[in-house]
Amino acid sequence: MKQKLFGTSGVRGVVNRDLTPETALQIASAVATYTNSGKIVVGHDTRTSASMLENSLIAGLLAGGCSVYTLGLVPTPVLAYLTREIKADAGIMITASHNPPEYNGIKLFNEDSMAFNEEKQKQIEKIIENKNFRRANWQNIKKETRIDETYRYMDVIQKTVTLKKKWQIVLDTGNGATSNIAPTLFRKLGCKVTAINSQPDGFFPGRSPEPNTESLQSLCQIVKQLKADAGIAYDGDGDRMVAVDEKGKISPLDQILATYASHVIKENKGGIVVTTVEASMCLEKMVKKYNGRIERTKVGDINVATAVKAHKAIFGGEPCGAWIHPKYHYSPDGILSSILLLKALEEEGEEEQKIILSKFVSRAPQYPMIRENVTCPSNIKSKVMSELEKIVDSTFPKVKEKLTIDGLHITLENGWVLIRASGTEPLIRVTVEAESANEAKEIMGKAIKLVKKLVKEMVKWKQLF
Ligand code: MG
Repeated sequence: MKQKLFGTSGVRGVVNRDLTPETALQIASAVATYTNSGKIVVGHDTRTSASMLENSLIAGLLAGGCSVYTLGLVPTPVLAYLTREIKADAGIMITASHNPPEYNGIKLFNEDSMAFNEEKQKQIEKIIENKNFRRANWQNIKKETRIDETYRYMDVIQKTVTLKKKWQIVLDTGNGATSNIAPTLFRKLGCKVTAINSQPDGFFPGRSPEPNTESLQSLCQIVKQLKADAGIAYDGDGDRMVAVDEKGKISPLDQILATYASHVIKENKGGIVVTTVEASMCLEKMVKKYNGRIERTKVGDINVATAVKAHKAIFGGEPCGAWIHPKYHYSPDGILSSILLLKALEEEGEEEQKIILSKFVSRAPQYPMIRENVTCPSNIKSKVMSELEKIVDSTFPKVKEKLTIDGLHITLENGWVLIRASGTEPLIRVTVEAESANEAKEIMGKAIKLVKKLVKEMVKWKQLF
């Protein structure tokens, strides 16, 4: 089977192996065809291959009769926001987000700031497959114009968010796309900023573009040493953020998402919050407390954005730190999320004017979550999953809710279990969360036994035919 060009977050691969200038040229030609020679904005993160791919994209777009506006180095959410603001027909972001430096990728955005969904990505793939590209006559070939409109993004945040306190913040932009914007914007909002890894650099010498416990060690130490109020880190393209509390500890991702979501619900006196099937049940508990409702979607920011729009949700977020604020635009936005988090801390603080981050985050209960894998040959994965759906009630008779939007997600009295076939490996992944560690273990035991039994039966069945 021919591999699909687009994955869960656009086209991604190792440069000059999976992602070549030729591929970029084809994608650009397809975008030109799809938008009928529209107005297209192009931006990129700090990767060494940015210019190579950008030139290829520009050539394809111009050949297809598009007018091209290049933004240069920008975070993904800024590209998304500006695509809508300057009334472009589509936006193209050159980024591999949190992947290692040798990777790059291409992510497409609609005129409304939302990333291309699966359906639109398929249409682009189809144009490439059929090679029926639109080509302009020589008289109709337009120009590439370099524009600097980043101020519009900074302006809208400055106009809509006022911070009362002088926050002392350590920002770790990780040599990524937020390096030029985040420290400036926080200072404009009155914060005292210490910026680390803030030189844009495609080799990512400061840390990995993926913000995790290992890569954020320096940030945690510096926050503690400076006695700062908080630390903030972004991924390579700035659509995700991770917060470090005043003690120098990374705020647990599910809990901070749940507490922030509950704050938004409280402020709006209800509403809908979108998250994925993988997020903790602490989100439901926190959101229901203030009469809000949760909608769960497939994993992936594009799915969350689509659901946010469809349900007219007031907030959407994944536990990886990709938060969507539809009031501004439909792309997850790390810089905006971190600024709105500070604002939330001020609003929740009452007399003391602000609440400390660790206290805020600890309002959400933390439940034990465990993950295990069961080996399963790739050719029977889908059969195992469909059989599982039919017989799961025998193992878990007291199911409160069953979702099949992304694998099988079952809500039980005291927790939930998610069983998903891996997209890339011969594995079935099982995730369990429950009120206590013992309950989680018990649910996991039952789920693993059931999946293993099914895999064994399917292997045998496959041998018979
Ligand atoms: Mg990212």
